[in-house]
Amino acid sequence: MNMKLTHDVIVLGPPGSGKGTQARLLAKEFGARHYEQGQLLRDEIASGSDIGQKVQALMNSGKLVPGEIIEQVLEEYFKKQEINTPVVFDGVPRTMDQISFFERVMNHHNRGEQVILCFELSDEISERRLLGRVADYEGQGKEVRADDNSEVIKTRIKEYQTLTAPLLEHYKSYPHFISIDASMTIPEVDAAVRTALKPYIIAAK
Ligand code: ADP
Repeated sequence: MNMKLTHDVIVLGPPGSGKGTQARLLAKEFGARHYEQGQLLRDEIASGSDIGQKVQALMNSGKLVPGEIIEQVLEEYFKKQEINTPVVFDGVPRTMDQISFFERVMNHHNRGEQVILCFELSDEISERRLLGRVADYEGQGKEVRADDNSEVIKTRIKEYQTLTAPLLEHYKSYPHFISIDASMTIPEVDAAVRTALKPYIIAAK
């Protein structure tokens, strides 16, 4: 039987927490879209667009890019297509400031409430995992992302701690807040996510 999500989901968590992987899996399995903010920006860079040119240096140094740009990309995403399925938001909102335009766009498109899925992980494990991923990719001859090197990784984790972590406190009082211990193994995290999301998954008609 096909199953689907009843709500949009926001995934939150430090780099290396596995939130991107989980977002992709959830979207695929439950007929949702994966809104991947980092990838949308990397696509802008690859296409050489104005936005791409504005964000490239910041992204490559591990800094967040200006909220107005994120707002523009988000608005464009909803403007260019009608979206009738749930969306898993991965990478937005990412700062307290981004909550207001995020909510405005959601209301404008009648998206309803979101489930907040937080992947909690210490800085130490986050850094260790990202460095491990770089070594694995290099070992396999795969392309390493421009922002995956040890100095930049430290900056990304710091940006997360100062700018994104406060969102967890903010969302804790939301009706659909879920916290997952992301230090477990991938199958364990998978299982925890599925159990926690059960109330939000129904049979598709
Ligand atoms: P990760 O979660 O591994 O850091 P992402 O692919 O989500 O990677 O993001 C990569 C980069 O894209 C970030 O370091 C930042 O520069 C930029 N970025 C993505 N989303 C946002 C956002 N909402 N606000 C500002 N910058 C963002």
